[in-house]
Amino acid sequence: MNILHRLIAGDYIDPATGKAIALPLKAAVISDDLRGSEADHLHALDLGHSFALVCDANTYAALGQRIEHALGDRAPLLLLPGTPKADIATVEHIRAASAHCDALVAVGGGTINDLCKYAAHLDGKPYAVFGTTPSMNGYASANAAIMVKRHKKSLPAQMPAGIFLDLGVLCAAPARLIRSGLGDSLCRPTAQADWLLSHLLFDTPYSDTPFLLLRDDEDALLENTAGLLKGDRDTMRCLARTLLLSGIGMVIAGGSYPASQGEHLLAHYIEMLHPAVSTHSYHGEQIGVTTLVMSELQKRMLSQMPTLHHREIDTQNIIDHFGSEIGAHCIEEMQKKWLSREAVDSLNARIMRDWENFAQQIDKVTRPTAALSAALKAIGAPYNHSDLQWPDAIYQRSRTHAHCIRDRFTFLDLEWWAAGSARKN
Ligand SMILES: [Zn+2]
Repeated sequence: MNILHRLIAGDYIDPATGKAIALPLKAAVISDDLRGSEADHLHALDLGHSFALVCDANTYAALGQRIEHALGDRAPLLLLPGTPKADIATVEHIRAASAHCDALVAVGGGTINDLCKYAAHLDGKPYAVFGTTPSMNGYASANAAIMVKRHKKSLPAQMPAGIFLDLGVLCAAPARLIRSGLGDSLCRPTAQADWLLSHLLFDTPYSDTPFLLLRDDEDALLENTAGLLKGDRDTMRCLARTLLLSGIGMVIAGGSYPASQGEHLLAHYIEMLHPAVSTHSYHGEQIGVTTLVMSELQKRMLSQMPTLHHREIDTQNIIDHFGSEIGAHCIEEMQKKWLSREAVDSLNARIMRDWENFAQQIDKVTRPTAALSAALKAIGAPYNHSDLQWPDAIYQRSRTHAHCIRDRFTFLDLEWWAAGSARKN
């Protein structure tokens, strides 16, 4: 039985705790062809009598129509107009239009999944998802990325009761969405290195378990990346499983720690401060690029023992840079990971004593930057910031300020503290 089946069955023992991992997910099916079995899969979940089938025009054509046909009257179609956005107005529209249904069935990728995940959560209804793209790792996660006013927030929601991925449909997804899914998966080594760094320096919680789930597929994915755009179902299965297990890993970790660290901060910075620039590319395309940036930074910093210098939070600089609203949020986040003069001294002592050992442990979980960039190049994915149409000046600002936007201590922070008073925040 593979890992996914064991997790669903509740008999995967977490090596860190010795206890079986319990998830609310009842089914996760990755199939060569789901045609004809859609209704059986849904009915097995026992979600109630009627399901709102949530699609947009693209996902309806890719798969929704087939499911509508399979489910008949029990699944009234809720067709979202235009290109839906993951925002509160659309969540409210879905809630109102599905008020008479027992459950939601999302047909789509990141946006429709997030919308249904959050709408179902607010209404206390179950939901299931038929994925149409292998573009991101959010299918199984318990959070929904929703735009609230001008801020993209990761809001607590719920795992789906079932996730159904048809490899034929995923292989037929637009190339850019496939590249995006690879990009969002490639950050495993940089996210793990950042999370482990924080653990080694500050004894913050850390677990290998989310990464053990991904290990076998990662090798196969990196060896056969080119197959993703050639309809190679075995490689697509690896990607699909990686995306699901990455989402499950976040649920196990109780947060996005194993799949979102410095590389995500760089992309979130652009998304928050330069939304127009951010819209030129998909999330995973950005993460592929920022993963290479973090990988290089991590290798460079691991090669030489850093010395941290005491610094103050330059609140005026942060407000000037981010504006008063986002700036106030950044100051709050930075205060949570702030180091007093004494903390800097004791951290330097710890680094002096153990750096070689820390660097070895971290290096073991990484991959060569060249291997990551070769995977992106193998399928024509963006691999530097200009490919994403990020102007140099804006990219440079993300490098110096992205660490301000969240309380996680990553290699971006280590670089900043090691730079001392030479550079302004
Ligand atoms: Zn991501």
